[in-house]
Amino acid sequence: METKAYFDYNATTPLSDAAKLAWLEAADTAWLNPSSPYRAAARVHARMENARESFAEAFAVEPQRVVFNSGATEGNNAVFAHWQQTLPKRSKVAVSPTEHPSVIESAKHFFKERVLWLALDEYGAVDIAALADVVLAGEVVAVSVMAANNETGILNPWQKIAEVCAKQQVAYHCDASQWIGKLPLDGLSNCDYVTGCAHKFGGPRGVGFLMLPQGAARFQSLHGGAQQGERRAGTEDVAGVLAMLAAFEAATCGQPEARDAFMRQLQSTIPEVQLVCKHGPRLWNTASVLMPEFASERWIRALEKRGFLVSAGSACSSGKEGPSHVLAAMGVDATVARRVLRMSSGSRATAEDWSLLADAIQLVYDELRSAAEGSTSRVITL
Ligand code: PLP
Repeated sequence: METKAYFDYNATTPLSDAAKLAWLEAADTAWLNPSSPYRAAARVHARMENARESFAEAFAVEPQRVVFNSGATEGNNAVFAHWQQTLPKRSKVAVSPTEHPSVIESAKHFFKERVLWLALDEYGAVDIAALADVVLAGEVVAVSVMAANNETGILNPWQKIAEVCAKQQVAYHCDASQWIGKLPLDGLSNCDYVTGCAHKFGGPRGVGFLMLPQGAARFQSLHGGAQQGERRAGTEDVAGVLAMLAAFEAATCGQPEARDAFMRQLQSTIPEVQLVCKHGPRLWNTASVLMPEFASERWIRALEKRGFLVSAGSACSSGKEGPSHVLAAMGVDATVARRVLRMSSGSRATAEDWSLLADAIQLVYDELRSAAEGSTSRVITL
């Protein structure tokens, strides 16, 4: 079946036209190694440095704070590795339990039992009062809390977290992969470390960036050549960087109307559908819902047959067993969590697509129910 509508933008986005043009142009004209000794290479190097300046300007930071890399997984790992090397021995870091696995696993790997898992509020965001207590009590020397959650779309109060941490001189890392390209960047310059990746906002995969604190000393994410001021060894992907910049400049902040209309339509036909986090602030493009029956995989397969691509949560974890760690941290029962569907829209998803998706879910529900009624398999449905 041909894909009618893609609703998995939080996993990855299609390459935007602007990014594709920039990429192809740079692949032709900027493919020299920017560190080579001739003038032609210096011109390629200059294009990359111009891109760094444009990024820095958009984020309202000094260009020296921007390091290009392979994406948010690398950036998140690099921050924890750096903390482990530079923070006082035996010090603790505070991390939200709803972070992306690239943060959770880095925290566990580098800090082991010295990770303090932060409490959540009733909306599934990090509880700012509890976090402030931890920081004010001097329990931790660094904090890592994402801006927007990839599975649920729930927004954390990262602007306030940055303030609290700055006052106590506690380092703050914000994984803003799902925020950048969707919402205004105001205030991100107040975070010490920010990670992001191009493929969440219409750029290519395998390109991203890390913002470092002003004047960060001794930061070295990969060992090798002296590229990027010795902060990240490896020949730079200039075409990727230029495509990422073009995608970033073309990305637009959206509105939640079509997603909200979808929810109303869906709940008018299947009233038992529950929205994960109904009341707190959420990304405008994401609907994370708990279905009344049937495991996520069955919905995903059946919807794909009808031309709709949706997900159960994090694409990175979909090969792993067990329900979502994000929903578990929010106190969602494991059996219920296995019925989650995540729909996330972007540049090419229209209001009509959302409406057609709601129709398709209704039809699939009828189909799954009649199949279950006609067989003994009902006992194994969740
Ligand atoms: N952080 C968040 C919040 C994400 O959504 C993702 C992507 O799924 C990542 C990190 C990892 O990004 P990348 O694919 O660039 O390694």
